Amino acid sequence: MSTDTVPPSSAENLPSTAPAATPEQDADERVESRSGYTQPVIDVAELTALLDGKYAEVRNLVRSNLAEHASVLEDAETMSRDDYRERVKDLVVEMAATGQTGMGFPEEYGGGGDIGASIAAFETLAYGDLSVLVKVGVQFGLFGGAILQLGTKPHHDAYLPDLITGKLMGCFAMTETGHGSNVQALGTVATYDVATQEFVVTTTREDARKDYIGNAAKHAEVAVVFAQLEVGGKSEGVHAFVVPIRAKGKPSEGVRIEDDGLKLGLNGVDNGRIWFDGVRIPRENLLNRFADVTPAGVYESNIENPNKRFFTMLGTLIQGRVCVGGGGINAAKVAITIATKYALRRRQFEATRDDQEELLLDYGLHQRRLFPLLARTYALHFMQELVSSSLHDVLSGTQSSDGSDDHGQRELESRAAGTKALGTWHATRTIQECREACGGAGYLAVNRFAALKADTDVFTTFEGDNHVLLQLVAKGLLTDYASDFEDMDQLGMVRFVTNLAVETVIEKTAVHKLLERIKDVLPGGDNWDQEAGLLDPDYQLAMLRFREEHILSGVARRLKRGIDNKMNPGEVFSRVQDHVIAAARAHVERLVLEAFVAKTRDLPDGDLKVALNLLCDLHALCTIEADRAWFMEHGRLSSTRSKAISREIGSLCRKLRPLADDLVDGFAVPAPMLRSPDLLG
Ligand SMILES: Cc1cc2nc3c(=O)[nH]c(=O)nc-3n(C[C@H](O)[C@H](O)[C@H](O)COP(=O)(O)OP(=O)(O)OC[C@H]3O[C@@H](n4cnc5c(N)ncnc54)[C@H](O)[C@@H]3O)c2cc1C
Repeated sequence: MSTDTVPPSSAENLPSTAPAATPEQDADERVESRSGYTQPVIDVAELTALLDGKYAEVRNLVRSNLAEHASVLEDAETMSRDDYRERVKDLVVEMAATGQTGMGFPEEYGGGGDIGASIAAFETLAYGDLSVLVKVGVQFGLFGGAILQLGTKPHHDAYLPDLITGKLMGCFAMTETGHGSNVQALGTVATYDVATQEFVVTTTREDARKDYIGNAAKHAEVAVVFAQLEVGGKSEGVHAFVVPIRAKGKPSEGVRIEDDGLKLGLNGVDNGRIWFDGVRIPRENLLNRFADVTPAGVYESNIENPNKRFFTMLGTLIQGRVCVGGGGINAAKVAITIATKYALRRRQFEATRDDQEELLLDYGLHQRRLFPLLARTYALHFMQELVSSSLHDVLSGTQSSDGSDDHGQRELESRAAGTKALGTWHATRTIQECREACGGAGYLAVNRFAALKADTDVFTTFEGDNHVLLQLVAKGLLTDYASDFEDMDQLGMVRFVTNLAVETVIEKTAVHKLLERIKDVLPGGDNWDQEAGLLDPDYQLAMLRFREEHILSGVARRLKRGIDNKMNPGEVFSRVQDHVIAAARAHVERLVLEAFVAKTRDLPDGDLKVALNLLCDLHALCTIEADRAWFMEHGRLSSTRSKAISREIGSLCRKLRPLADDLVDGFAVPAPMLRSPDLLG
């Protein structure tokens, strides 16, 4: 089965300024010219409508708010840090008044009652100043989200109305200096005092101080604090408590707060450290959706196993992770828009004629640098759309993930983690490449890249470090999302993952069976991978599926070998971690391509479908090309075919060249957010 883009373009459709082709390319293009390829004409409004999806109205509201407050981009460079923080806070409160930041909260508290809309609003906000974005994330996503998801009606009644308007500022105090990724090892303790019916919150050691907490240094009056709950001398694990930390600008009694100081970016957000010295809070301040303590000091929970309780609690907070992934992808859209538009104006060297220098975008190399990133941005956009829509369905109760069991919820958590990791790494890479593609001009703050680079850098770390997240993805794959491993300690978990991996991966998907299965879905029998069309999405997907399952079964085998040799399970897992990460990446890459292919397949025939198929093919072939050594090592790619893939990529880039401007315009980044007056004209 082929896409509408097969085969490549006719020579007369190439821009007249195209660089000289190699003899190999000439041969390619003779074939292309016989194909009858007609260059599509993109209706930009139609493309934007497709990308905006069902939340076009919400996204447009955010776009106009961004344009109205565009001066904050300049303020970030000219104001003192203190003034900039105040400016960002005021802006967040002002935006809250338009309803754009409260869309995910229940309507009875003044919210919009639509989780999907709140994610769409957040993603779109990433076109603008990212301190504003992160402050919104902290206040409404982390702080508000914790009250909403971990609290019950009394907490909702007490806090939601004021936090939704920004009247009550709060923070989410989970991370400590000593522990970020390993939340179960936090050192802050909340001990129940039955005599006064209060919890006493204490920082038990120096590295248990809360750290990097957004909103803490200046603005938050209240914190949702994650601490080890102790009742009657017994530790019940990490729970969340509402703790007042500041009143009238001064820290509350027993609370010490310090500013984290200047950061690499996001300096409009006041990150800080917090210490608690026997701070007393009423019993009711425990966010008690999943567990409670009775006045008499009896601990109660419907979820018996403490590890399962902990993971269930954290699972409700994945919206923040989904938002950060979407924010990263949208920040990449800003960068690729600027770099593409600049390359359509900037000329450098006479290359094809004497009287005029060449446009940067007419250089094959420039196309090769920018278009795969553009294609991947689209691919990740469609993956993100799927993840946020599943999250909306699960959190709104319109879908209990996958039936009524936990399997679907875990799968969603895994997809959210994987998309966040790939989306934020993509942002870092794209922003850097686009900065370089704009040369020296890219280095000037007015042209946006300075802030984009500095502010998005930490997206790979907060809301879950990307490498830690990919390990979660792999554990899900190795155990088919079994819930049991959440009931165990770290060591037990590794042993469990190992054993189950053997059963789930090796026995169910032995490599020879896998090969049979792949052969079944492809034309060409044994030589399928030598004969299938390079632009056949079934071929492209089968390659990614093969890689995923092969790496995964390799991990399972290695784990089994270590355990059979009586090695320490933790050491076994640690030794294969590079393969674990590779398996998770391969899995998420396959999902991303599937999302793109499904999106284009569903489109009605027409120019938009042709254009998006070009991008989808480019994304697929670049993904294979990037790992061609692996495919060749594993006998799935001959050197001839590998070269053909690279040629095809060149051909796709040439076809995309005339469409590039429209493809970036489709993102509809408001012009004032691009700034770059000299780059864009
Ligand atoms: C600007 C900013 C804002 C933040 N805002 C908040 C906030 O509002 N509230 C909040 O609670 N927290 C916040 N954080 C904290 C953030 O969530 C943590 O920094 C993050 O979870 C990572 O934890 P860590 O810094 O302890 O890194 P670590 O967990 O120590 O990780 C350090 C490195 O070790 C690697 N690593 C860790 N474990 C393993 C392993 N098992 N195997 C292999 N490698 C491993 C990681 O991949 C990483 O590269 C913020 C951080 C920053 C920088």
